[in-house]
Amino acid sequence: MTHDFDVLIVGSGLAGLSAALHLAPTHRVAVITKRSVSDGASGWAQGGIAAVLADGDSFDAHVQDTLVAGAGLCDLAATRFVVENAPGAIAWLRALGVPFSLEDGELHLTREGGHGARRIAHVTDATGAAVQRTLIDVVRQTPGVTLFEQHTLVDVITARKLGLPGAQRCLGLYALDDATDEVLTFRAPQTILATGGAGKVYLYTTNPDTATGDGIAAAWRAGCRVGNMEFIQFHPTCLYHPHAKSYLISEAVRGEGGQLKLPDGTRFMLDHDARAELAPRDVVARAIDFEMKKRGLDCVLLDISHQSPAFLHEHFPNILAKCAELGIDITTQPIPVVPAAHYTCGGVLTDLAGRTDLPGLFAVGETACTGLHGANRLASNSLLECMVFAQAAAQAIGAAPAAPAAKVPRWDDSRVTDADECVVISHNWDELRRFMWDYVGIVRTNKRLERAAHRITLLQAEIQEFYANFHVTRDLLELRNLVQVADLIVRSAQLRRESRGLHFSRDYPDMAAPAAATILVPPVA
Ligand SMILES: Cc1cc2nc3c(=O)[nH]c(=O)nc-3n(C[C@H](O)[C@H](O)[C@H](O)COP(=O)(O)OP(=O)(O)OC[C@H]3O[C@@H](n4cnc5c(N)ncnc54)[C@H](O)[C@@H]3O)c2cc1C
Repeated sequence: MTHDFDVLIVGSGLAGLSAALHLAPTHRVAVITKRSVSDGASGWAQGGIAAVLADGDSFDAHVQDTLVAGAGLCDLAATRFVVENAPGAIAWLRALGVPFSLEDGELHLTREGGHGARRIAHVTDATGAAVQRTLIDVVRQTPGVTLFEQHTLVDVITARKLGLPGAQRCLGLYALDDATDEVLTFRAPQTILATGGAGKVYLYTTNPDTATGDGIAAAWRAGCRVGNMEFIQFHPTCLYHPHAKSYLISEAVRGEGGQLKLPDGTRFMLDHDARAELAPRDVVARAIDFEMKKRGLDCVLLDISHQSPAFLHEHFPNILAKCAELGIDITTQPIPVVPAAHYTCGGVLTDLAGRTDLPGLFAVGETACTGLHGANRLASNSLLECMVFAQAAAQAIGAAPAAPAAKVPRWDDSRVTDADECVVISHNWDELRRFMWDYVGIVRTNKRLERAAHRITLLQAEIQEFYANFHVTRDLLELRNLVQVADLIVRSAQLRRESRGLHFSRDYPDMAAPAAATILVPPVA
């Protein structure tokens, strides 16, 4: 079946839904999303959204804090653009009905690490969930938007791939419908990738299952450049438990005196940094990684049991309840934790309107590399980036000349059969995520990167064979994308012969001059 729209948006996180709402008054929009509309990282964001809203704060200060975090690699124009549009983005959310936390009728602003002022607008400690709830409600009542849940992007369709004469451009996409196992054709002159990050490429991640780098891999296959893929932000403390997936233990636990310990109860952070548990995120993550690798540990312990039960109930009710569910009483026991992949700073290269290298294809949100984050993301800048670039992309699409609809063939699966050995897929998923964790994690070396590159080459061949011969499934599509993204991360890391921001190499421990982004150029698609 072929669907025709003016704009296709892949992903229903904050980036995708914001773009849909900006476009809906004037365009017929399809939002294609691989699970339910509410699945994705946006709903999991806890802290909030950064914007200059307080007296005494300034755009220059927010820009400066972002540049410092980005360790010399932020694009100044992109940073200014996002910062200056932030108050408008918050006003837009308020107008839609997001119930931000208030104090005396004004927005209550918190302060987070790296920010020199109070500038984080939030909805208690569950900002993303409140924002997503509001946007989903509005989208459902917006006639111009058609929602396709349980539909997974397979690939974008380009004129060159179809062998059409004339200029190269994006003509639409193929998506797998879970309900029928059929690959559907979606045609539109404009497509926006808003598929989020790629945290699932690592064994431990704070990201939801949807974060498999699909948009990055699809854009790369369609001929778009990607940038800065080596910069993966690791959160130092994610709950480690066989039955707990991706549960983040807030940094506030260390802020309130939580101590990191080895299984025998020895504190170790002071051996790594004079600021101990209060050292910056990347320092703590590296220290935990060091201790785990040196001693062959599965996890370390975060102990906050010196605080009274009343204090813990008041300050950390959610963490307390989650741990209790798993049989851990944090009032008397330490919490097992590991560092975990948290945010993908790199992605598909875009301009200030979210345009990629492929005409007719945009990338917005965590899937994009706009230049805002540089070598390290400043807390609470990412939800903001989703909204600012979604609006910019919608404006660019609104101003674009109409493109004639092209004839697009239906998906051809006449030469493939059903897979007989699905175990290959689950095995390869596990293998990939484990070696990426061990070899391309928080601390890298030339040797480890070489090992990872070697394994990726083997996996790519195996998966390509599977893809060519069998009906596609969501697991296979995600694995294919994860391996592609792993390859991009490793190649970017190998090109960076220095340590900067989130990329730390034992072979090149110092920062080199001049600072330059890592840009990978795909083979001609
Ligand atoms: C635990 C946690 C806490 C965070 N806290 C904060 C915070 O306080 N402040 C902040 O600014 N940032 C925070 N972040 C980061 C922020 O949440 C993300 O960067 C942001 O939500 C990304 O939004 P997005 O729309 O780009 O992607 P997502 O919200 O992840 O949405 C991606 C969408 O694409 C869909 N999708 C993916 N692949 C396909 C495919 N092949 N086909 C169809 N659909 C597909 C997914 O199902 C999903 O709907 C946090 C992240 C995590 C994980």
